[in-house]
Amino acid sequence: MRTRRLIAGAAIVAAFASGGAGLQDPIDRIRDADIKADLFTLAGDAMRGREAGTLDEMTASAWVAERARDAGLRPAGDNGTYFQFFPLERFRVSSGSTVTLDGKALRMGRDVVSDAIVLANVDAPVTVAADGKVEGLAVKDRVLVVRYAPADPAAQDAGPRTQAALRVWLRGIQNTIAASAPAAIVAIVPDAAAEQWRRVSVQFPRGTYGLDPDGTAEPRVPPRGAPLLYVRESALAAPIRTDARLVASIFTESFTYPSVNVVATVPGRDARLASEYVLFSAHQDHDGERFPVNGDDIWNGADDNATTAVALLAIGRAMAAQPGRRSALFVWHGAEERGLMGSRWYVKHPTVPLTSIVACLNGDMMGRNDPTTAALLGALPPHRNSPELVQIALDANKAVSQFAVDSSWDDPQHREGWYYRSDHLPYARAGVPALFFTTLLHADYHTPFDNPDRIDIAKLTKMTRWMYATGRAVAEADKAPAVDPAFKLERCRDSTGNYCGGG
Ligand SMILES: [Zn+2]
Repeated sequence: MRTRRLIAGAAIVAAFASGGAGLQDPIDRIRDADIKADLFTLAGDAMRGREAGTLDEMTASAWVAERARDAGLRPAGDNGTYFQFFPLERFRVSSGSTVTLDGKALRMGRDVVSDAIVLANVDAPVTVAADGKVEGLAVKDRVLVVRYAPADPAAQDAGPRTQAALRVWLRGIQNTIAASAPAAIVAIVPDAAAEQWRRVSVQFPRGTYGLDPDGTAEPRVPPRGAPLLYVRESALAAPIRTDARLVASIFTESFTYPSVNVVATVPGRDARLASEYVLFSAHQDHDGERFPVNGDDIWNGADDNATTAVALLAIGRAMAAQPGRRSALFVWHGAEERGLMGSRWYVKHPTVPLTSIVACLNGDMMGRNDPTTAALLGALPPHRNSPELVQIALDANKAVSQFAVDSSWDDPQHREGWYYRSDHLPYARAGVPALFFTTLLHADYHTPFDNPDRIDIAKLTKMTRWMYATGRAVAEADKAPAVDPAFKLERCRDSTGNYCGGG
């Protein structure tokens, strides 16, 4: 991977150059000990991974708001509170769907799960594939039943982020016999493959997540199709008889479930500039409780993104100790992991005028990798929408954190499409000068091993001070950083080959 280094500007951050004579910069209030204590709480097992669409995200968000109040921040959400609730649009197979296989009624979500979100009514005889062989079977309008028998049980999944081997296997069977148009395909999952069962069933209650910030989405029409079902073998009374039938009524449900942005402010001290805001941005959610890996089923998301969530608390303490000329705005976005939903919502429903936000300083994953390097996304075209803001950030780095800045991930050809994967994106699209502070990917990303004891606290503190010093300089400057009028985001591809950023 090519690494480009940006040359930091020669200017020193003049935090209080204008209108702040004699004021002391409270950057020393950003301390390792506070950051560590907050991090171990927010990323601790008691928060259960803070998943959007569960009460755990609410627990974490209430904690963040409480800590923001302790830090001296004022509420800036809806109705004088720290909160801005918004609806996640949920869509999934209903657990009320009925499935009876060979006379045995199975509980949807517990004994049987559906792979795809389809509507289906099935009443058809089964064909049991002997020894798992499906080629050449005549299964038109019949139900193919095949028992999961991995070729090599030792070589199952390459890692927690890969597709479950069971799903890959069943999709392969589906492709093999698609032309013969079966009424349904049922995979029998033996108890010996319980780990695979957990990996596919973990998705069932989640379904899919959507957002309708404009309130204009068309009603969701569930597709009809031949269902793909996984059945726990131990839920069956006996081996399936040759004259067995599958009787199933599978239906879907859509509903909304709340997520929440936590919003707070430190009002500016300059009567004229206080109506403008420097936004410090993070997300507090992560991936929740999923399947266990090495016995750990809590995906704590310490780096992603408890690091920046607690960094904002530390920045808040420093800002509250000495307000800037401009106001500071803090938004902990909900449901980022479900598709930047909190930030997409906030940009459409801002609690201060969007045009009064003069800069969005977003952080995501700020506590891992080489202690001397860090990345600043949005620093190079085509992602750079404010050269002035970039220069302020580079000067702040030189003054307070001295990271070697890796800008290679700003390359639009970079395979990760990293710029498109955090909460600054909706702000940049809306014309707000925006930067993304990060220490980039690592092997524990989106696994149960992203734990607080793996965070480099000293590095996180330096990243926090860098974000703070950048925001402080913006807050104190006579003029807000200009937006590049020629800024236009190019589409990119993410690591899965899909165009990223939602288009
Ligand atoms: Zn993240």
